[in-house]
Amino acid sequence: MSIDLHTTPSSPPIIELEQIGRVFTRSPVAAERLLSLFGRDPEIPVLRAVRAVDLSVQRGEVLGLVGESGCGKSTLGRIVTGILPASSGKLSYEGQDVQTLTAQEKKRYTLSVQMIFQDPYASLNPRQKVGDILAEPLKVHGLAKGRSQIKERVRDALLEVGLDPAYADRYPHQFSGGQRQRIGIARALIVEPDFLVCDEPIAALDVSIQAQVINLFLELRTRRALTYLFISHDLSVVRHIADRVAIMYLGEIVELAPAADLFASPAHPYTQTLLDQIPSVRNRKRKFHAVKGELPSPLSPPSGCAFHPRCPHATERCRNEAPSLVSIAPGRTASCHLVKESK
Ligand code: SF4
Repeated sequence: MSIDLHTTPSSPPIIELEQIGRVFTRSPVAAERLLSLFGRDPEIPVLRAVRAVDLSVQRGEVLGLVGESGCGKSTLGRIVTGILPASSGKLSYEGQDVQTLTAQEKKRYTLSVQMIFQDPYASLNPRQKVGDILAEPLKVHGLAKGRSQIKERVRDALLEVGLDPAYADRYPHQFSGGQRQRIGIARALIVEPDFLVCDEPIAALDVSIQAQVINLFLELRTRRALTYLFISHDLSVVRHIADRVAIMYLGEIVELAPAADLFASPAHPYTQTLLDQIPSVRNRKRKFHAVKGELPSPLSPPSGCAFHPRCPHATERCRNEAPSLVSIAPGRTASCHLVKESK
């Protein structure tokens, strides 16, 4: 797929993450509170969901973010949209630290960056009619005046995602999974965003419907010059839509490359394993297995390279020393002791 970035070389990325981290801790249980009362420090486990991620998304591109369930990719998506604050690092929108945005700039960022959720049913209020669901962001943000303008915007949004405007009077339960995802997309589009964070948007849909929804994303990208962060556990899904792909493992980006390069010559052993699971003409005779072993708990990540317990190439060095993310070719980075750094 050719990259037609709606940007100039000097324009900043629409979104930039620098050393972004996110930790989760639980509340202390009774015994731990008791320890605190006696001046002892209870050891409450810290879950490092996202660890020092650097990533930027240029205006007009589609960046695929791929990794197994639990690797931190959805947490990262929520940080990008501002739904979840980062614990550390810097998030910039159009070159400006979001922490320093004025109220008006913050509003622009909030509207410009929208999220599409995996489960369309859970993200739609079952007690609201579709027309009211779509009208709500217009009313909350004062984006349309009067009932007739709101009605017109709702009608246009439904048409744009391929739904009959008469559906505005129905409730979410009256739709199929694919139609509900289209309603979710219409709700995001109605505020005229520039950037959609799509979190596993087709994972809950029937296989027969998935291609239709992917095609809708492709059409919308062209029609509205949208930028996407497209999150998926399945490399074969992003293959059809992404310009670049970032591979995430246990909270870290382990490989980033233009999609064509990544699929032609994956550099990181984890990417190679993910790619081996995609049925293709090239590997049609192979037996397909899930990636060997389970994703380790982010509560106690392995020493050295986090992938070493599952890596077929792991050595003693891998068990003791974490590799750094290095440049391996123009526009390509990977973190593995086996890759050769390009200078
Ligand atoms: Fe495998 Fe070692 Fe590379 Fe990690 S650093 S991916 S364990 S070869």
